[in-house]
Amino acid sequence: MFNYRDFIRVLRDLGLAQGSRILIHARLASLGEVTGGTQAVLGAFLAVGETVVAPTFTFSAMITPDVGPSDNGMEYGSAGDRNSAAQFYRADLPADPEMGSLAEALRQAPQAVRSNHPLLSFAGVGADEVLTSQTLEDPLAPIAALASADADVVLLGADHTANVSLHYAEKLAGRRQFVRWALTPAGVIECPGIPGCADGFPAIAGRLEGIVRRATLGPVTIESYPLRDLVHTAAGWIRMDPEALLCGRQSCARCAAVRASAVKES
Ligand SMILES: [Zn+2]
Repeated sequence: MFNYRDFIRVLRDLGLAQGSRILIHARLASLGEVTGGTQAVLGAFLAVGETVVAPTFTFSAMITPDVGPSDNGMEYGSAGDRNSAAQFYRADLPADPEMGSLAEALRQAPQAVRSNHPLLSFAGVGADEVLTSQTLEDPLAPIAALASADADVVLLGADHTANVSLHYAEKLAGRRQFVRWALTPAGVIECPGIPGCADGFPAIAGRLEGIVRRATLGPVTIESYPLRDLVHTAAGWIRMDPEALLCGRQSCARCAAVRASAVKES
């Protein structure tokens, strides 16, 4: 069973130290039981990092309209009962379970602040400037702010499908972004600049061998990447190969829309 001190050691092994800025993607289930639970893991990150941020996305607030712009990587009118199950986005709406318990614990930390995008919010401690950089039109601005601040991305029990910085690389490389809709107390809000599908992201791994740092916790390997280099590498690959990092599922509307837009441009 791992404890707070194990996590402190692992973060130090990754080269993280006082003053580090950390973007976390964690899936703690892969670690088994931790003494002190999620709070112990969060405590270690907050003890080591000056700035600690995690995505607290809420696709639970997403609405699928009956009509909308074309080439938008989705099927309109396909929501069925999901629209009536959508939740109103409020600042205290929990992050989707897929974001992991650590992101949700960070959101709930007394000293944490959350940005207010109805689908793509981030929560953080010591991250006020990073979080206020986000706008409805520029949902990935916190990643840009973290990259300029030389942050590191930590993948703990998570693979690159959780690595939202790769979405920022896609945007930088000019890849098509999408429009989605969110339910809020002020009505249904149109959200531009929404990135596509992450299912193909694990293909980046080999290209990041030169910049990855690894540490182990029992059977689990924890990885850390300098965010600026990660974005630079991924954006460079996408510029060279417009199909880089797309998934192979025939039925994926978002990856199909990206492929179609790449063909149009070439
Ligand atoms: Zn896809």
